[in-house]
Amino acid sequence: MNCSNCGAALNGRERYCPMCGQPVNGYTGESSSTDLPKIILDLAAENKRQNEQIIQILKNQNEEIKLVGQMLNTVSQYFIAKNMFK
Ligand SMILES: [Zn+2]
Repeated sequence: MNCSNCGAALNGRERYCPMCGQPVNGYTGESSSTDLPKIILDLAAENKRQNEQIIQILKNQNEEIKLVGQMLNTVSQYFIAKNMFK
C-alpha cells in the first residue's frame, strides 16, 4: 500500500501518511490520539524528551543548592565555634 499523494510506502495501519500527512485512503473514521499525524506525535515525543531533560537539570541544580547549603552550614558552625572558644 502506498500513499495516494506522495507514494510513500505505508504499512496499512497509518491513518495519515507519515511523509506528507495525507489521510490514508479508506480512512474516514473518528479521530483519537493515535490518529494524529506523525509530525504531531514526533513533536509530542520531543517535547516529553525535553521536559525530562529539564527535570534532570532541575534535579542537578537542587543537588548543587543542597551542597551549597551544607557548605554554608559548615562555615557558620565554624564561626560559631570560633566565637565560643575565643
Ligand atoms: Zn504521502
